[in-house]
Amino acid sequence: MFCVECGKDEPIFRNGVCLSCYLKHTQFSKGPTIMDIMFCPRCSSYKHKNIWMQEPFNDILKRHIKDAFSISPELKNVTIQTRCDEKDRIFQCMVFISGFLEGQQITEQHPLTVRIRRNTCDVCSREAGGYYEAIIQIRTEQRTFSNEELKTLRSAVETMVGQLQKSGKRGLFITDDDENRQGLDFFLSEKATAFSIAKKIQEQFGGEFKQSASTAGMKDSKEVFRMTYLVRIPAYRKDDFFSWDNSFFLIVSLHENKVRAIELSTWVEKVIDGKYIQPSKIFGGKERIKEMIFVSQSKKEIQLMDPKTYSTVEIPKPKIISIDTPMVKTVKLDDSLFLVPG
Ligand SMILES: [Zn+2]
Ligand SMILES: [Zn+2]
Repeated sequence: MFCVECGKDEPIFRNGVCLSCYLKHTQFSKGPTIMDIMFCPRCSSYKHKNIWMQEPFNDILKRHIKDAFSISPELKNVTIQTRCDEKDRIFQCMVFISGFLEGQQITEQHPLTVRIRRNTCDVCSREAGGYYEAIIQIRTEQRTFSNEELKTLRSAVETMVGQLQKSGKRGLFITDDDENRQGLDFFLSEKATAFSIAKKIQEQFGGEFKQSASTAGMKDSKEVFRMTYLVRIPAYRKDDFFSWDNSFFLIVSLHENKVRAIELSTWVEKVIDGKYIQPSKIFGGKERIKEMIFVSQSKKEIQLMDPKTYSTVEIPKPKIISIDTPMVKTVKLDDSLFLVPG
């Protein structure tokens, strides 16, 4: 067949013309020559369809091109590429739209000017306005926190917030915090996340969990509530020694308001409700442990020597164990000496 346009004897593609003549006067993509993209300078995110995203400019630009350009469905396996030069927040770009028609690759070019409009995003304006939905309060039971504990707790909360932000929780931030010996307060932008962080703190450090709501005015004719999540960390800590029920224990782990503890005269593990551990019956932790020289042992007894005074003492073994180290860990509680496991 002869092409009505070029007259060559070629297969007719469409409307009486061959493929190369068809391609000559068909445009497959169309788009604007100028485009505005919003950018938040505070958090370096760009806006796309009412959503602020922290993505590289090129990825955001492609999203906008996909929305604003119309590309013929005849074109298969379409790819979009851009090349841009920036000056004074104006990008002069060339957009390349490529695809295949009848196995033939077609690339079309479009000059595009992209203007960057600076605007504070929703999250940053909330943050700047001191917005918060919930307070996480961390307190103790009948004691004050040590500086080390405050540091550990602070970093636990901040690490969780940081990880959630990284995993895409853009609306999450710590508006403010307050720290003193009595405890820590964190003001958070999202109550559901604040709740789960407070629960994790309780899981990790033990203690009680309480929540309460207070009204914080009206919004869109609805009452707005702020939540307070209180974690009350117990007087005891992991590695503390305590007495209860005429026995002495070492705390191995904490879970909510239960503790797993080892009874020191038998080395048998028990789970004890934290409410039985009275603050006055806690002896302290690792600082109470004293190393002693191992002298000899029988099946049921062990003889130890004080490395400073050279006085020896014989104590019953907590269970059938054989000592094979030159030094052993001991603790003296209310005049009784115990071997400490581990
Ligand atoms: Zn032709
Ligand atoms: Zn922002």
